[in-house]
Amino acid sequence: MLQKFNPKNKDLQIYVKDGIYHRDEAKVSVFDSIVQGGDGVWEGLRVYNGGVFMLDRHLNRLMNSAKAMHFANIPTREEVTKALFDTLKANEMTDGVHVRLTLTRGEKVTSGMDPRLNDMGCTLIIVPEYKAPVYDNESGISIVTSSTRRNSPNNLDSKIHHNNLINNILAKIESNVAGADAALMLDNYGFAAELNGTNVFIAKEGILYTPHADACLPGITRGLVIELAHENNIECIEKNISLTEMYSADEVFSTGTMGELTPVKMIDGRAIENYNNTDLTKRLTKAFESKVAMYCVPIS
Ligand code: PMP
Repeated sequence: MLQKFNPKNKDLQIYVKDGIYHRDEAKVSVFDSIVQGGDGVWEGLRVYNGGVFMLDRHLNRLMNSAKAMHFANIPTREEVTKALFDTLKANEMTDGVHVRLTLTRGEKVTSGMDPRLNDMGCTLIIVPEYKAPVYDNESGISIVTSSTRRNSPNNLDSKIHHNNLINNILAKIESNVAGADAALMLDNYGFAAELNGTNVFIAKEGILYTPHADACLPGITRGLVIELAHENNIECIEKNISLTEMYSADEVFSTGTMGELTPVKMIDGRAIENYNNTDLTKRLTKAFESKVAMYCVPIS
């Protein structure tokens, strides 16, 4: 499921700092904090049928992350929204689009770690691309447990959606080497936290479980799936989940903007076998699809 270059993205128009440029011209300074320290926060968003899915929740998380990082001169929600809509309009994009939106601490007066060296305001980067959900949600994915732990609040709070993705990249390398599609990352206690780029749920005897949002990103798709479970009278419990519970679950699926809801078929060589014949993944996928239009903010 390795993504390939899509020729439809050949002439992308990309927002950087104060304007929109052809992808060949869109550049950040070598003095930008994102280059020097991965010092930025980001959101992945999806565009469906003329609207941006759950824009408010993405903006909330972006703003909360920028505040936790103590950024100065953070653009307003209105400014970010305008830049996003302008960029989508410049590309005439209305559907089948994934947007990588990054907000960095900005350019530094000289190289160095100190955020006081950033006196030029934040850099906003908006990269929209034609991109279908990255996983085949019919056939599902196989995952392996990674030896790299997901950050917990006692090292780097996973509630900040920051660009320091090395843990997750190392985990992804482990899954690549093992020939799997994604890595399952554990927390400091050895409980499941999430996959390297998505959250995770299991179902057992008709009840849905997901790890507490302590050592995982509080994903927007995760949040919606919990809401949809309640709406559909499916009990959903946030708890510590051990590897044994993962292996013996009836159903396992991942959630995220990049893949929506994706069944997990294999974990560490153990096939996920649904002895209780439950259909929570299917029901929640349908419920998710039925809500997409309702949660899209029209591009204006
Ligand atoms: N976990 C990680 C580590 C992620 O990077 C992402 C997506 N950015 C998610 C989970 C899924 O979050 P969301 O549902 O908000 O896309």
